Amino acid sequence: MTATLHTADLLLSLNGPGDDAVAAGAVLVDGGRIAAVGPAARLAAEHPGAARVDHGDAWLLPGLDNGHGHVAGWPPDAPLEVFLLARYGAEDEQRTYDRTLATAAGLIRSGVVRTHHLHYGGGEDAAIRAYRDAGLRVEFCPGALDRYSVLPYDDGDRRLLAALPPDLAAEVRRRRPGKPTEPVARHLDRWRALRERWSGDDGVAVVLGPDNPQWCTDDCLLALREVGAPLHLHCQETAAQRAFAVAADGASPVARLARLGILGPDVTLAHLTHASDDDIAAVAAAGARVVWNPASNLRLGSGVTRVRDLAAAGVALGLGVDGGGFADDGDLLAEARLGALLQRVADTAAPPLTNRDVLAMAAGRLAPGEPADLVALDPLGAGDPTDAIVRRASARHVRAVYQGGEPLLTDGVLRRIPDDPPDPGSDGPAPGAALAARLDPFVRRALAAARPRMDAATRG
Ligand SMILES: [Zn+2]
Repeated sequence: MTATLHTADLLLSLNGPGDDAVAAGAVLVDGGRIAAVGPAARLAAEHPGAARVDHGDAWLLPGLDNGHGHVAGWPPDAPLEVFLLARYGAEDEQRTYDRTLATAAGLIRSGVVRTHHLHYGGGEDAAIRAYRDAGLRVEFCPGALDRYSVLPYDDGDRRLLAALPPDLAAEVRRRRPGKPTEPVARHLDRWRALRERWSGDDGVAVVLGPDNPQWCTDDCLLALREVGAPLHLHCQETAAQRAFAVAADGASPVARLARLGILGPDVTLAHLTHASDDDIAAVAAAGARVVWNPASNLRLGSGVTRVRDLAAAGVALGLGVDGGGFADDGDLLAEARLGALLQRVADTAAPPLTNRDVLAMAAGRLAPGEPADLVALDPLGAGDPTDAIVRRASARHVRAVYQGGEPLLTDGVLRRIPDDPPDPGSDGPAPGAALAARLDPFVRRALAAARPRMDAATRG
């Protein structure tokens, strides 16, 4: 295969302070990987036979990584707990494929080349196929659950259903409410089969995880860990989740995972919106990673992750749009901007993150041997380019995206899939929107009624 030299007026490797901006820079791509990075004139002289792609006045930076996501549809302006009840229902394979393709299109438009997807329900193969058809690499995690199902905390399921008017309770039950639970042995059988089916595609990593610790028994968590695969899970996303877990298990989910020996450097915790000082210390001690989802956590009113405290404790951080619908536009560049602004007002003595810190959470590396993942952005004016990207860039500035050297988007147009794939989730009210509106007061009341019990457990 002929090597290709990508040139641009400015190259941002984001590899480390002081060495990242190269005026009139170039990236030499060979066999899907980066072969060299440096001044365009030198690389052109050294590789005269290379094909050329000149990005002109663009800024060339590494492809971005969406650290945690789903194909979720558009949530109501209501707590996560309402969404969980109203949204879940069977979706056929075609709808799963179409939704995933639309999600992938949005991610690519904001410079994403690799995404994480935490999945529940069926249609796993359809979802993976859509990501791959769009050209994204995907870390795919079918989430395991083996306890609680509706309002999945303690006996909240029973209490909530009992409090609903009969027709509403029947509707909730009919829609296969909550997330479906299954014995962990069966989940692992399905997981192994899925991993086997995709083992020939090095753009797909099938990882493992509890969907959320409070929805899993100790036996389930231990069985998942025993497999030895990397784990990815939701953790302490809402105050109710953490408090109910304390009430049900006698420990926060983080403390419970630490006690069971499950936390480690191959464990990624999504959200971690509600974390005590002890939780943060446990995550740091185990070397686990946290993916921050600022837009989703605001959209659902979940809270604000203590990223400055996590960073100060030495925890590795990633950034994600969660389900595209949770961040509304699913734009990872906009997510970086929101996160960078939001962390500035945190009530902590830990130092603020720089724009570079925030962008680095999502950025790959422009370095020899790395996958040839490139993003060409419209130039964003004078001053520090990393600051300019975080402060001003969004999907509308993305001109081109290459994953493993292959063009996914050029001249602002998607190249592997229809430029405007239909999104079955955006053609009207979100599925379950009417149900969500009816459920909203009941769920809020159930959470409020449980509050004293949860607070007592949290204090204890
Ligand atoms: Zn999530």
